[in-house]
Amino acid sequence: MRSGRNHASSGGAASRPERPNGMRLGRIAGVEVTLDWSLLIIFALIAMALSGGVLPRWHPDWGQAKVLVTAFAAAALFLVSVLVHELAHALVGRRLGVEIRRITLFVFGGMAHMEGEPKTWQAELGMAIAGPLASLALGLLCLILAGIIAGPIDLDPQDPGKGLAQIGPLATLLLWLGPVNIVLGLFNLVPGFPLDGGRVLRAVLWGLTGDLTRSTLTAAAVGQAFAWLLIATGFAMALGVRVPFFGSGAIGGLWLALIGWFLGNAARQSYQVRLIEDRLATLPVSRVMHHDYRVVEPDARVQDLVDDGFLVLSQRAYPVVSDGELRGVVCLEDVRRLGRDQWPSRRAADIMTPLERLHTMTPSQSASAALALLAERGVNQLLVVERGRVLGLVTREDILKWMVLGPGASSREAD
Ligand SMILES: [Zn+2]
Repeated sequence: MRSGRNHASSGGAASRPERPNGMRLGRIAGVEVTLDWSLLIIFALIAMALSGGVLPRWHPDWGQAKVLVTAFAAAALFLVSVLVHELAHALVGRRLGVEIRRITLFVFGGMAHMEGEPKTWQAELGMAIAGPLASLALGLLCLILAGIIAGPIDLDPQDPGKGLAQIGPLATLLLWLGPVNIVLGLFNLVPGFPLDGGRVLRAVLWGLTGDLTRSTLTAAAVGQAFAWLLIATGFAMALGVRVPFFGSGAIGGLWLALIGWFLGNAARQSYQVRLIEDRLATLPVSRVMHHDYRVVEPDARVQDLVDDGFLVLSQRAYPVVSDGELRGVVCLEDVRRLGRDQWPSRRAADIMTPLERLHTMTPSQSASAALALLAERGVNQLLVVERGRVLGLVTREDILKWMVLGPGASSREAD
């Protein structure tokens, strides 16, 4: 599973990625790996399930210590398996031009944090399929190794458990890990967005139709249908129905329903994010910009600008305008660079960033172009300019407000 960039960050000269909540494991191949605290729950559940049920059943003659060590080793290797899956996404993604800086191992698997979405359906397809393929390959490798380590076993067709009891801890561990990885790979291949299989489906539809938004809608709808299937199956199990492969029982059933609920939410959210991105791409920046800002004359004293502007208003950048024409911008950073003793003697025109060096927008450019430029330049606001005149200022907060309040929010629409 992967998530796109969070655009909502604000403040500071440059936008920083949000800090993950968890334990940093370090860097692997240039990718920062973090363990989300929620994964400790999975670790504990696996260790408990193995030491309390599976291993004593497979090996009735094993002592308590042997069971516990094997169970904890298996739980740790499960985390490594999830890491391999996510690293496969990240490394293949990087080869295909999608920058991945961070991976979070998370309760339902992992998340590779992308800097934006893949630009082409080929990149999306290659990156999405890499994770499940890595899991399937790892699963097969575990089974082959288990077979080699265990060597020939006398299998009694009347009592297959007896053969299983002969194999050692390492082969037992691999024999458990192999199918687990294969299930991990297959589960992620279910073609419902945002599972990897859903991304594969979306990439194929995107390649066929060229319409990313409609493809996301279809893949997310399949994702929600699958989520409902999991929830229904989970409740059926909780009510005592025996489901092939999953069995029955309240705990297993509720767990399955919880995964379904999580997936359904993720499917809906990823579609909404896509819709917002789509709208921002067609939304002119003139609709989101704000108008309640002050301008200054080129010969305004810096001291006055500090006293009447920066110290008392929340505005962080002042357009420098003379005869209605934009000359440049003075921002807090320009004032800070200038020594305090020079504030009374210097003028706005002395310290402003002149028009030639400004990154401005035209009113018809899109809000998503504004977001991209804000992030790329590490600035807090952009001026919207038409034929040398300032029409407004646009910040991340303006765009965020628009996203929260929705398209019906602007009463200026009728203007
Ligand atoms: Zn994946």
